[in-house]
Amino acid sequence: MADAQPFDRRDGVIWFDGQFVPWADANIHVLSHGLHYASAVFEGERAYGGKIFKMREHNQRLIESGKLLGFDIPYSVEEIDRACVETLAKQGFEDAYVRPIAWRGSEMMGVAAQSTKIHLAIAIWQWPSYFDPAERLKGIRVDLAEWRRPDPRTAPSKAKATGLYMICTLSKHAAERKGYADAMMLDWRGQVAECTGANMFFVKDGKIHTPTPDCFLDGITRRTVIGLAKARGIEVIERAIMPEELDDFTECFICGTAAEVTPVSEIAQWRFKPGEITKTLMDDYSATVRAHAKAVAA
Ligand code: PMP
Repeated sequence: MADAQPFDRRDGVIWFDGQFVPWADANIHVLSHGLHYASAVFEGERAYGGKIFKMREHNQRLIESGKLLGFDIPYSVEEIDRACVETLAKQGFEDAYVRPIAWRGSEMMGVAAQSTKIHLAIAIWQWPSYFDPAERLKGIRVDLAEWRRPDPRTAPSKAKATGLYMICTLSKHAAERKGYADAMMLDWRGQVAECTGANMFFVKDGKIHTPTPDCFLDGITRRTVIGLAKARGIEVIERAIMPEELDDFTECFICGTAAEVTPVSEIAQWRFKPGEITKTLMDDYSATVRAHAKAVAA
């Protein structure tokens, strides 16, 4: 579904290389290396009650993603944190999505790009629920993607890098064409990996099983949810999961900054019933992000 308002024509300001610029003026040249060769890394963060949840972890990962692509973002994590907080204040939102992005500029064109300038921009907008709220509570329907997460020797799979999303967009488009909300991707070995923008969890006999993130993003929400499950005394098993095993799981949910905790009702031929564990972790996650805003404000 297209957003009603195009993303280049919104109100407010964008933090751009250390300055606030009017939203419509946050432009780059068409010969930017980041556009041609995917030398760009980004983050997705959410603010609740005016405070950005896990901001330091996200901005640290942004810096590390840049390093994995061979560049140093010319700002410290403290400076990026401050820029995010100031941008949120200027935008005046309580609940919002925060998108920092760093990319190589246009000083060099071609595969080699050593002397390109590294740019950083931060845009913040209101992005309520990643999945349709009505569908979300029943559990979303997920297809099986044809594309697979690459071997870490094929791509810097731990980076949140733009190039890694090429196969996510292709997979999500294919899924949406068939009426699904998202797609589950296997990895290069055929093991269950993740959805196109979220990590996956399964439930069997009161225990949670989740794939070991050895060739895809170890999401910050994933780590939060594992902590919440353990705090409830629920065992969490990280291991290789083969798709055939989906026959034996009773619940499934996905999680990510944008997706939060979202129940899944089906994946291709497999069926799940959003149940007690999914519901508990959905509620615990909501409570945690709200409690964080209150604790920071206090
Ligand atoms: N996997 C992919 C491919 C993602 O894009 C995201 C969202 N950033 C995640 C997992 C979840 O990561 P996080 O919880 O850190 O948002």
